[in-house]
Amino acid sequence: MDFDFTLEHKQLRDTVRRHTEEEMRPHVMEADDTERFPDGLFRRWGELGLIGARYPEADGGIGMDKVSDCIIREELGRVSQAFCAAFSAHSHLGIWPIWRAGTPKQKKAYFAPAISGEKVACFGLSEPDGGSNIRAMKTCAEKVDGGYRINGSKLYITNAPIAGFMMLAARTAPELKPSAISLFIVDLPNPAISISHLKKEGLKGSETGLLYIEDFFVPDDYLLGGEEGTYPIILDSLTENRVGVAASVLGVAKGAYEEALEYARTRIVAGKPILEYQAVAHRLADMATDIEAAHWMVYRGAWQVDKGGIDHETAAKIKLFVSEAAFRVTEKAIRVLAGAGMIREHCVGRHHRDAMVYLFGEGTSDIQRNLISRAMKERDLLP
Ligand SMILES: Cc1cc2nc3c(=O)[nH]c(=O)nc-3n(C[C@H](O)[C@H](O)[C@H](O)COP(=O)(O)OP(=O)(O)OC[C@H]3O[C@@H](n4cnc5c(N)ncnc54)[C@H](O)[C@@H]3O)c2cc1C
Repeated sequence: MDFDFTLEHKQLRDTVRRHTEEEMRPHVMEADDTERFPDGLFRRWGELGLIGARYPEADGGIGMDKVSDCIIREELGRVSQAFCAAFSAHSHLGIWPIWRAGTPKQKKAYFAPAISGEKVACFGLSEPDGGSNIRAMKTCAEKVDGGYRINGSKLYITNAPIAGFMMLAARTAPELKPSAISLFIVDLPNPAISISHLKKEGLKGSETGLLYIEDFFVPDDYLLGGEEGTYPIILDSLTENRVGVAASVLGVAKGAYEEALEYARTRIVAGKPILEYQAVAHRLADMATDIEAAHWMVYRGAWQVDKGGIDHETAAKIKLFVSEAAFRVTEKAIRVLAGAGMIREHCVGRHHRDAMVYLFGEGTSDIQRNLISRAMKERDLLP
């Protein structure tokens, strides 16, 4: 067993750290205040090769691995989970299905310009009546001459207000079963799709939309891979992304921990740094332990993806543990700073709000537990 990162991984971390500190951090507070994602950041990520990192060179990517993708996301999340949420919706959820199942024409028109950051992608799965329960999807694509006519709505769609296209999930048959759900590539903005910008309590520096789709005609060419019933692609995409999302919330936890540690070293109360009070030291010890455990779960998961694929149960365990750990760590960070933790010049409050979103974003903790216990039942470990 080798638990070390390669020299290439370490160099990548240094490069991304420089980028996040010098080019991202100056925009974080303004984006959080205005709830607007900074112009030009996707193009910059494209120039740096961050968007295409985990995709093979033969397919137009950079040819690194999932471990590299997790390093990138951890570093982005450490400075701004809002920006990293935009990165995830674009670099994975919006384009992974095209990479995996798109036609050559779809890859050329959408995957390539997304990798360069020229076109921003989003992923439309959740609906007002179907967040956890994907099978309840009401958005419907009716087959008509030469294409499909789509009607429905999508809720909480990251990047939708700034996107050039959406990977849209819609029902292509009336049955409530997986084979009835298909994916379409939809150009945005679009006269048949109204998008309103949702104001949020967390991830405020990312843009999130509520979409109404009315009698939208999409030609056959825009059905992903030219095939109906691509629900398994959605499941595989979500499974791999649970590892990436966990990497980014690990970054959030580290960002909060670093700030709390530095504060505890320098804040003097009753003549000594608060780090010397056992209550504070123990809090930091708990935070460091959660981070250590989360770190190994994330990078073992990434390693599994690189070895050929990760199963739904392991990915769910990683997402469950790391998101709950990040929530605990960021809350403890606020306790270390106490009053200062409520002042916006410090990051811990923002990190905590952002970590909270991942208790339910990309599948709630309850849904992860359902996935894990279902797999345990399949192995006769539960009745
Ligand atoms: C900021 C943000 C960005 C997002 N970005 C996107 C995006 O880009 N694309 C996208 O498609 N979606 C996106 N989402 C949606 C996200 O994936 C959903 O919020 C999530 O899947 C939960 O769905 P819900 O909010 O409708 O909760 P509900 O499904 O209404 O759940 C409510 C509660 O009931 C519990 N519950 C529901 N079903 C079960 C069950 N079977 N067993 C046990 N408990 C259950 C849940 O755990 C939860 O506690 C985003 C959400 C947010 C907040």
